[in-house]
Amino acid sequence: MSARVENVVTSGTFSLDGGTWEVDNNVWIVGDDHEVIVIDPAHDVAKVTEAVAGRRVLAVLLTHGHDDHARAAREAAEALGAPVLLPAADRMLWDMVHADAPDGTVEDGQLFAVAGTELRALATPGHTPGSTCYYAPELGVLFSGDTLFNGGPGATGRSYSDFDTIIESITQQLFFLPRDTRVLTGHGRRNQHRRRGAAPGGMDRQGPLNPVTSARARPVGRALAAFSPRTSTPPRPRW
Ligand SMILES: [Zn+2]
Repeated sequence: MSARVENVVTSGTFSLDGGTWEVDNNVWIVGDDHEVIVIDPAHDVAKVTEAVAGRRVLAVLLTHGHDDHARAAREAAEALGAPVLLPAADRMLWDMVHADAPDGTVEDGQLFAVAGTELRALATPGHTPGSTCYYAPELGVLFSGDTLFNGGPGATGRSYSDFDTIIESITQQLFFLPRDTRVLTGHGRRNQHRRRGAAPGGMDRQGPLNPVTSARARPVGRALAAFSPRTSTPPRPRW
């Protein structure tokens, strides 16, 4: 297994609820010298195509349908010769920027093989209804989209987002991941945080995925308290 992860940062805008903001997005390329999967090819198709450098693209996977992640996805998929797959519950977001349908959907638990390794889709609604993380166990990596950021969960202040749902997703789907899982986010710095600590039985009981709350062991309840809007440190991420 020679699969590796590459990162491309692209710049553009995110629009929702009548506002538009400048954003930088992380595009993730998983694979080897021959074949790859591209996650969230945002904004700059030429830059992503250059990074792929002629390798066979098996699929373009979207973590969710927000327009900064999805707007360039159709054009990227055509340039890369691959299908673009969207979590089904985010179709209404896709339809805000695309006249046609995506080539397929992503469901919870779906597996994607590439370069001798595997990505598993983990449905983590909350940031958007369809928000999905992709977990690569052999690489020890979680592509979290906008579900997790350094410092806590993704933003839930806009349409189609729900704070309680994102917390439930994180506790139900992500607290089980091994302690050394690297979380690679949809935005933000490239040297991402690691998950810390695991309780007996594999259920993590610490404040995981968050350099603030993982400084020492905390029970889940206290970790979640640290995620609440009241105790989170502003400014909150806007995407
Ligand atoms: Zn988003």
